[in-house]
Amino acid sequence: MAWDFSTEPEFEAQLDWMRNFVRSEVWPLETVFGDLGEDGFRRAIEPLQAQVKERGLWAAHLPPDLGGQGFGQVKLGLMHEILGTSPFAPVVFGNQAPDSGNSEILALAGTEDQKERWLHPLLAGEKRSAFSMTEPGVAGSDPTTLRTTAVPEGDDWVLNGHKWFTSNGSVADFLIVMAVTDPEAHRYQRASMFIVPADAPGVRILRDVPTMEHPQEHFGRYGGHSEILYEDVRLPADALLGPRGAGFLIAQQRLGPGRIHHCMRWLGVSRRAFDMLCERALAREAHGSRLADKQTVQNWIADSAAEMQAARLMTLHAAWKMDREGAAAARTEIGLIKFYGARVLHDVIDRALQVHGALGYSTDLPLEQMYRYARAARIYDGPDEVHRQSVARQLLRGYDPPADGVPSEHVPTRREAARARFAELLEAVTSND
Ligand SMILES: Cc1cc2nc3c(=O)[nH]c(=O)nc-3n(C[C@H](O)[C@H](O)[C@H](O)COP(=O)(O)OP(=O)(O)OC[C@H]3O[C@@H](n4cnc5c(N)ncnc54)[C@H](O)[C@@H]3O)c2cc1C
Repeated sequence: MAWDFSTEPEFEAQLDWMRNFVRSEVWPLETVFGDLGEDGFRRAIEPLQAQVKERGLWAAHLPPDLGGQGFGQVKLGLMHEILGTSPFAPVVFGNQAPDSGNSEILALAGTEDQKERWLHPLLAGEKRSAFSMTEPGVAGSDPTTLRTTAVPEGDDWVLNGHKWFTSNGSVADFLIVMAVTDPEAHRYQRASMFIVPADAPGVRILRDVPTMEHPQEHFGRYGGHSEILYEDVRLPADALLGPRGAGFLIAQQRLGPGRIHHCMRWLGVSRRAFDMLCERALAREAHGSRLADKQTVQNWIADSAAEMQAARLMTLHAAWKMDREGAAAARTEIGLIKFYGARVLHDVIDRALQVHGALGYSTDLPLEQMYRYARAARIYDGPDEVHRQSVARQLLRGYDPPADGVPSEHVPTRREAARARFAELLEAVTSND
């Protein structure tokens, strides 16, 4: 009997340390980030990063031979639940998106030279990266429609295309770009990945797209989502990352763990909002009693707790399955948590915001910012609808329509079969009358 919901004491001690550290050292940065600027922020986090390294928690997503801790997805998940409480904690721990996912790609598909040149500096925090796949002109939820191309010319490749929502594109030292190299191949084997230095001639970073989360126009700041033109960018042969035509395959391997980490980070945010919900419910009085005494608010608290617990167990289960059987085996579980977790995140923050009334809507609390952040979770790494569709398709593979068209649970049909099966017994029972 191997089911076990406990955490080993040594790791629990690490989690305790992370909880205290993130709350006391990282949360305060949130309120002065705007004043610090890019350079000031880097200076503020350097000593914190040093403490994380000393504690052996730096870049924990990678195996030890690459300077990580090789935690596996369950431990990483528990860790991300804590880091998710602040947008700045992942960077302090060396596993912020998209660098963490990109380092996984480089570890998985990179040559020794590519690892030396790009992965090691990325892990050391000396370089930053971005992942450039989505294009404004075609549906990002169906990347087989990509239009960006990389065409061989002599020993080089020539890259042309228009991307957007390349997170951290304007602060990255290099971009991992998905481009079509084999337009005639099977649709999942048409694209390849390339490592593109951000200063390569022909890379034009047009802007950071203002979003719900960051509505003000700004450029060149951590967390921006860049629109980029690649115009006749000439790349050497060794810019190809992984085998030609393997772009989607590598992307799938990267996205599985990334989705688990996202879901656990969302639970960290949800928990923070939930704590605020409970605190306010106890403190505020209206219509003769505390908000905590109103049944609607009690329902919000109970529903939020139940949904967070469900999402947490689903996510840790997906992580456990991935650790034991690999990302492909955990595909359905990962699809489930991606859309379920995004909804829980949204709903818990929404209730916490509502219980605070005008204060929740104001920027005096972080809830409105969390709410705007939460909305994107239903879109990036695949919109909800695509995950639902893919989960449903996988589940349907385990079913067949009934051969005779009659539902297999049809009661009159089952009754007839049962009557035939128990005919003797039924006869005996009725003849006793
Ligand atoms: C905050 C944020 C960060 C991002 N970071 C990156 C990044 O770093 N790199 C990168 O390459 N991309 C990034 N993206 C882009 C993201 O991956 C895409 O937005 C996403 O894949 C959806 O593509 P799209 O925006 O083109 O929407 P579309 O593909 O046009 O889809 C629009 C809508 O159509 C509906 N839809 C689509 N397919 C189906 C279906 N099968 N059934 C029913 N409805 C459907 C859904 O409601 C969907 O929201 C980011 C996006 C956001 C919001």
